[in-house]
Amino acid sequence: MAARLDGRQLASQIEARLQSAISTGLEHAGRPPGLAVLRVGDDPASGVYVANKEKACSRVGITNHGAHLPADTPASTVLAAIERLNRDPAVDGILLQLPLPAGLLEGPLLAAIDPTKDADGLHTLNLGHLLKGEPGPRSCTPAGVMALLVAAGIELAGKRAVVVGRSILVGQPMALMLQAANATVTVAHSQTTDLAALTRMADVLVVAAGRPRMIGAEHVKPGAVVVDVGIHRKPEGGLCGDVRFEEVEPIAGAISPVPGGVGPMTVTMLLVNTVTSWCGRCGLENPLADLLP
Ligand code: NDP
Repeated sequence: MAARLDGRQLASQIEARLQSAISTGLEHAGRPPGLAVLRVGDDPASGVYVANKEKACSRVGITNHGAHLPADTPASTVLAAIERLNRDPAVDGILLQLPLPAGLLEGPLLAAIDPTKDADGLHTLNLGHLLKGEPGPRSCTPAGVMALLVAAGIELAGKRAVVVGRSILVGQPMALMLQAANATVTVAHSQTTDLAALTRMADVLVVAAGRPRMIGAEHVKPGAVVVDVGIHRKPEGGLCGDVRFEEVEPIAGAISPVPGGVGPMTVTMLLVNTVTSWCGRCGLENPLADLLP
């Protein structure tokens, strides 16, 4: 039976480190870290995600500077809100919650975020820093996966890793992070032929295809580490991932569950990026640097 890559447990351990870093640095900094989650419109799933992020901020001592704008807000007003947050010295991290309402283009708005306050790590400049192995905020979901692998003591150097999915949000930065950890990485996508033959070669398989329960026992080498990034609401209620957990768990060496795997780590890495930015702005040594791949 596979070991469980427990994201809830690791997230709460990292939250304790965040709390301690904030309380230790508070006097020197003269202010707490600040995160602004900017939400436009009323996408219901976003409402849940934003609430989770705000609760996580208040648990560790990050001030929330978030705003919720109506769905018909013009792009110029959203842009002005981003520019105000860029200038606000109490704000260390900014996150524009996606998806945006129809009619608002996300590209120019994401590009307007000060790259040093890019809590999501998705700004073009920060993706470039990742590519070059330079420090900077890291994309939260793949950084969370790396933290799960490291905490479980999974050796990546020399291992064969396969990432299913090549989005800018998950697959691409995931592949770069695994490669930086000296794994030999292959990226699969919707045009990949004979996916199962490829994934069966993986010592570490990260699945971010956004296809409910597409990966089964036939895709997994016995003993492989399987990380399931997918999140889907089941019609009958509850959540599932991209992996058929009950089929894969008996043969894998380690596996992340859904829920309770990658999801909680994504939120935690948002906090890590924010506190890292706060340390940089306030001249503090960053005690969380080991968490950023
Ligand atoms: P996207 O839809 O942007 O990308 C999906 C990728 O998977 C694409 O590259 C696509 O290929 C590839 N793909 C789709 N179908 C197949 C297939 N049959 N075989 C091989 N590859 C395939 O999704 P995201 O990357 O944004 O998200 C992926 C999943 O992760 C979603 O379920 C999402 O909800 C979840 N997610 C979870 C998070 C968390 O915190 N746990 C955070 C972010 C996302 P192509 O490029 O050719 O189209």
